[in-house]
Amino acid sequence: MSRRVPSGVGLQRPGSRAPSLAPTSSRYSRAAANAPDAGPSSRRVTSVLPSAGALRVPTEVHESNIHVVVRCRGRSPQEIAEASPVIATTGGPLSKAITVETGAAGVSTLAVMPTDQPNTKTYGFDKVFGPEADQTMVFNEVAESMLDEVLAGYNCTIFAYGQTGTGKTHTMQGDLTPTPLMAPSTDAGIIPRVLHRLFERLEAQEGAEYSVKCSYLELYNEDLRDLLAPEYKDPSNAGYASQIKMFEDGSKKGVTVHGLEECGLLSLKDGLAVLNRGSQRRQTAETKMNDKSSRSHSIFTLTVHVKETSQDKGEDVLRIGKFNLVDLAGSEAIGRSGAENKRAREAGMINQSLLTLGRVISALVDKSSHIPYRESKLTRLLQDSLGGRTKTCIVATVSPTKSNQEETLSTLDYALRARSIKNKPEVNA
Ligand code: ADP
Ligand code: MG
Repeated sequence: MSRRVPSGVGLQRPGSRAPSLAPTSSRYSRAAANAPDAGPSSRRVTSVLPSAGALRVPTEVHESNIHVVVRCRGRSPQEIAEASPVIATTGGPLSKAITVETGAAGVSTLAVMPTDQPNTKTYGFDKVFGPEADQTMVFNEVAESMLDEVLAGYNCTIFAYGQTGTGKTHTMQGDLTPTPLMAPSTDAGIIPRVLHRLFERLEAQEGAEYSVKCSYLELYNEDLRDLLAPEYKDPSNAGYASQIKMFEDGSKKGVTVHGLEECGLLSLKDGLAVLNRGSQRRQTAETKMNDKSSRSHSIFTLTVHVKETSQDKGEDVLRIGKFNLVDLAGSEAIGRSGAENKRAREAGMINQSLLTLGRVISALVDKSSHIPYRESKLTRLLQDSLGGRTKTCIVATVSPTKSNQEETLSTLDYALRARSIKNKPEVNA
């Protein structure tokens, strides 16, 4: 959304000493101080002032605001060692369909269908990435156009959904190792690539000033923890990161998270440092607390303010966009039908937020009058970024082998429910 800049909201111009929206707080100083090589701070600017017009504002109206894509990885070393056969096929690195053998899991396909033509199911999605798709392609096809929307002042969210071990974290985060020239490494995932492209775009933008802030939190068993909290404690302790609470903020949309650290980012280097810090905390906690990360959601949020002077009217316009990049809990946490479901619930395995997210997305796709945002913390947190003029993409990740057949079919069914009826070309063999 864009709005006129209220008086008193000043984004800093280069050389100016006026406070900017982001980086002057003590919180920012902490973030910058943690950057491996924060660089000369006097050279950092929150804004650039070249000529107008470089902002690429999307003009096309999107047919659907919810896109569902699938990424099928190659066989893992373990799957190869187990000699588990490949049962999912895609049409090269980028296509629109994935075909999966549906013979009962654990039972020979031949036992179910005494023919050499196995039973298969073909699913249609907006995009299907095969094992040959690299990180650059996934970023270009999934995140690049959403960045346009964020810069134009809209809220966007990318979710990675799928069974543990299928590549959610690889897709969202990937390799964070810095390269000498600050270019993303080959295996860098969507989040570091978004940071790269965002700063590249902002720094090339003419006639605009900007600020970028980020937060990084984790939702585990419906408890919120701040991965960027300065008072981060020993991860062997259950309070491994600051526990924070959210409250309704009285507005129609969204909640406020009290005590959430928001780091101002002046540069790509700051962004990568903050991302590394939060991700390392998540990883340390995962190692010390068994499968914790497979049952927690992490939400990395960038808030971008861009101020431009309208050429026509000569007045300032402030665009505020948000980009939520979400690595969801393993989809196996949803549990399956009937008795198994009950057992899973007793074992605390069912992830309320994952279930509700599916229902919220189905309700949005169906244009239902009631959207059950309030039924989970994840959907309450993201309420201002789901529905309306926001853009959402779900990346469903799957394994190609028979050993994961049941979870693969379940992930694809969940993803399919999130697709708009109008655009749903499900085919079945
Ligand atoms: P998840 O987050 O869904 O549990 P990970 O992202 O941790 O899964 O992936 C599990 C392993 O598989 C990691 O070692 C990861 O690097 C690897 N992996 C996942 N997807 C791919 C892919 N598309 N290409 C190469 N390696 C992958
Ligand atoms: Mg993961």
